[in-house]
Amino acid sequence: MAHYTPPLRDMQFVLHELLGVTEEFKALPAHAEVDADTVNAVLEEGGKFASEVLAPLNQRGDEEGCTLDRETHEVKTPTGFKDAYAKYVAGGWPALSCDPVFGGQGLPITVNQCIFEMLNSANQAWAMYPGLTHGAYECLHEHGTPEQQQTYLPKLTSGEWTGTMCLTEAHCGTDLGMLRSKAEPLPDGTYRITGNKIFISSGEHDMASNIVHLVLARLPEAPQGSKGISLFVVPKFLVNADGSLGARNPIFCGALEHKMGIHGNATAQINIDGAIGTLVGQPHKGLAAMFVMMNAARLGVGMQGLGLTEVAYQNAVSYAKDRIQMRSLSGPKAPDKPADPIIVHPDVRKMLLTARAYAEGGRALSIWTALMIDKELTSPDEDVKRDAADMVALVTPIVKAFLTDNAWIATSHCMQVYGGHGYIAEWGMEQFVRDSRINMIYEGTNTIQSLDLLGRKVLADNGAKLKKFGKIVQAFIEDEGTNEAMQEFVNPLAELGDKVTKLTTELGMKAFQNPDEVGAAAVDYLRVCGHLVFAYFWARMAKVALEKQGAGDPFYKAKLATARFYFAKLLPETASLIRTARAGAKPLMDIEEALF
Ligand SMILES: Cc1cc2nc3c(=O)[nH]c(=O)nc-3n(C[C@H](O)[C@H](O)[C@H](O)COP(=O)(O)OP(=O)(O)OC[C@H]3O[C@@H](n4cnc5c(N)ncnc54)[C@H](O)[C@@H]3O)c2cc1C
Repeated sequence: MAHYTPPLRDMQFVLHELLGVTEEFKALPAHAEVDADTVNAVLEEGGKFASEVLAPLNQRGDEEGCTLDRETHEVKTPTGFKDAYAKYVAGGWPALSCDPVFGGQGLPITVNQCIFEMLNSANQAWAMYPGLTHGAYECLHEHGTPEQQQTYLPKLTSGEWTGTMCLTEAHCGTDLGMLRSKAEPLPDGTYRITGNKIFISSGEHDMASNIVHLVLARLPEAPQGSKGISLFVVPKFLVNADGSLGARNPIFCGALEHKMGIHGNATAQINIDGAIGTLVGQPHKGLAAMFVMMNAARLGVGMQGLGLTEVAYQNAVSYAKDRIQMRSLSGPKAPDKPADPIIVHPDVRKMLLTARAYAEGGRALSIWTALMIDKELTSPDEDVKRDAADMVALVTPIVKAFLTDNAWIATSHCMQVYGGHGYIAEWGMEQFVRDSRINMIYEGTNTIQSLDLLGRKVLADNGAKLKKFGKIVQAFIEDEGTNEAMQEFVNPLAELGDKVTKLTTELGMKAFQNPDEVGAAAVDYLRVCGHLVFAYFWARMAKVALEKQGAGDPFYKAKLATARFYFAKLLPETASLIRTARAGAKPLMDIEEALF
């Protein structure tokens, strides 16, 4: 069975030594009192919950999966999931970063982000139940009417009720403009919703007394396409005026999907047979409202990738130190044993260090992103708010796609470290590989993320957001210009920055001639930008490690070695990515469809 140790030391490094978050919080009145001791204590407790309560349920949850009672339409989650959720609620975890007005604890998103990394490492399938709930909370917090907020937010905050996002239908996933679910206005101001949704995560379960579905549907006479979609809140049980649960709403689970991974999460077909709902936001503006939830979920999926990268790495390292096979090419390293531990072999180290560099780089990026969200939401300074919002918009597709692509690579490498033992179920590694695959698909496939980055976030605003990030990078490069020890990090960072600028200009020009050029380059482009962001954070981490390594703490030695590995062995991937991005649409589009 796999083990998991919360990476508290590295989280504290990123939070306090790299980003100085508590200093940043001082400029945010809502969080000005949050000090390092509070942050560390919360993370320690969250880590205990993840490693002691959730991790032991992960493999069993995978084996058992969820079961649907076709008579009652109720779903039973795997053994232990319900109890773990009750403990999560009793511990106040759902309320951590929610608004105190609705019973939340008002802590920064930055702290919540770290908690979710750990929940995902321990048990991604379980973590999706509270993860989606938090997305529903954010959507209603921003777009709900005061009445909807009063009805739903306290219960979502406490975790008594959970949330879902019901977008996908059998004929429409990426292209939500084609969705068919209908909403008919009723005289009392509510709506009667009918339709069939598929693939709804946490869509039905036995962990909470009510499920708050956020459903996309069309009003009568709605315009065609994505401009005619509205958003509705449709609870499993209707809620009476006094807040108690009323009649069962006809929104039922018709079936559960059988799938590759995340077996402990109920992926439900949801049949909506005239269920009563209320409108969230403006008519026909449902997608804009839902985007609050989708953006939260995209960052959440990035955290799933990060969580799996970390846990796979931890297990692969233990195995590689323990498993003995063959001798080191440069002579025996454990002469007292019949063979050396496999960690002596260069390629095993390469696989381990790849996972480690992806985990630690991903952690720095995702905690920084969460800090930007805290600034966007709570800074009293409008310029700070706007800049932070721009950075969040720019990096959201990178967090989602780069971290989950990396997780797929990392979990696969870590499985390889185990040899054949990685492929069999006993050690838990193959589950991490299977669980990680969905993260590249849902919440907008990684291709869609790359189109969002290149098309909407970069080209559509003439590179303004990218330039803003470029200025942050440039300031760091200039600060380190005369620091000899930093040249090995700063020079490749500066070089890549220049190449990204040139590539962006070239792709922008080509896109004017032929829009397919964007589609042909976007996936490579996102990966190049992912590396630019990682190179920036790895250079900054190396700087801290260089300054502190003298104290003899092996943590800094390891950080520096991983930074050097990243720059030497992973960053050079950008050269081939830039070449393939520049190779353009022709080699893809020249071949006629009939010839496939
Ligand atoms: C386990 C699981 C859980 C899920 N949870 C939820 C949930 O909670 N709520 C929910 O609403 N949905 C959920 N989904 C649905 C998920 O978000 C969709 O499956 C996903 O967005 C892709 O849609 P699709 O499957 O219809 O694929 P399609 O949209 O049919 O795409 C097929 C392929 O075509 C590509 N493609 C499509 N359009 C373009 C384009 N313009 N340019 C380039 N390539 C393109 C895609 O990238 C993909 O590779 C879940 C799915 C799964 C499997």
